[in-house]
Amino acid sequence: MILLCVSKLKRIWQDLQDELKSENVQLPKSMLLNRILNTSPTEYLEFKNAWESVPVNERTVASLTESLRLHEQRLESMKLPHESRSVAFVTKPSTNFTKNQADSAQKEKNRKIKCYYCGRPGHMKRNCYKFKNEGSEKEKEESRKPGQAFMTVV
Ligand SMILES: [Zn+2]
Repeated sequence: MILLCVSKLKRIWQDLQDELKSENVQLPKSMLLNRILNTSPTEYLEFKNAWESVPVNERTVASLTESLRLHEQRLESMKLPHESRSVAFVTKPSTNFTKNQADSAQKEKNRKIKCYYCGRPGHMKRNCYKFKNEGSEKEKEESRKPGQAFMTVV
């Protein structure tokens, strides 16, 4: 946006200089730079102050244009995170809500179920401590003597 203004000013400047060349007059470069700075919007006030600290011999149209471009990019990037922040604010509570819902649903489920191994409510047979202790003992016993088990079947 700002660069469009700068290039427009540059063209006017070039035209003026071409006209004056025939009369052997050289326009001072600082005139164009000042014109660019004076037409910049108020957002660039900070930029203007920074530009004033640049040494006079380094104040070229090219460096001014480049600095303006960088400043504009910075202004744009400052606008972006603000939007993504508001999006994050909207999505975060909803994920917490569904998680809480899932938790209470799981609790409700646990209250209804009953272990048919030990007969106690709140867990299933595969989560039963009694089944795990006794069941795994039995499995170990059986796996310890597979040959015997095979022979009794035959
Ligand atoms: Zn149980």
